Amino acid sequence: MLLTPTIVLDSVLDINKELLDEYGIKGLILDLDNTLAKHGSPEPEKGVACWVEEMKKSGISMVIVSNNREERVRPFAENLGLDFVWGGKKPLASGFKKAREKMGLEFDEIAIVGDQLFTDMLGANIKRIKTIFVFPFEDEKGILFSIKRFFERPFLPKRKK
Ligand SMILES: [Mg+2]
Repeated sequence: MLLTPTIVLDSVLDINKELLDEYGIKGLILDLDNTLAKHGSPEPEKGVACWVEEMKKSGISMVIVSNNREERVRPFAENLGLDFVWGGKKPLASGFKKAREKMGLEFDEIAIVGDQLFTDMLGANIKRIKTIFVFPFEDEKGILFSIKRFFERPFLPKRKK
């Protein structure tokens, strides 16, 4: 099923080297909003900066791919010392391709990490990239998001706890 993630976790902080090794994952394509930070927040969510450092030390390649604008993505990514693609046009593949080139990995060695089934997971599954779904840090405001989340609901993995 195109919307089914490979792995479901509560947040990015639950991703570790052992888990990635199990799946043969050497690189992560990271969504930004509600995956690394709350929507529009210039600060990464608590624990995220440490987690990024840990992943780097473990030799995991990471690139942020966001559909958001350069003014949002560049300072955030640079602050964490991560490479990035802005205006990623997810679920289309162009942003993922650019990220793959930056990492110099094959698609089957990469996992996409994100909080939205219709943008992050769908785009990845079309390319046969592994996917890690993480639950959003907060509920988004606005009618467009409500509609998207409404249609996501039947496909959403059950949250543990
Ligand atoms: Mg997101």
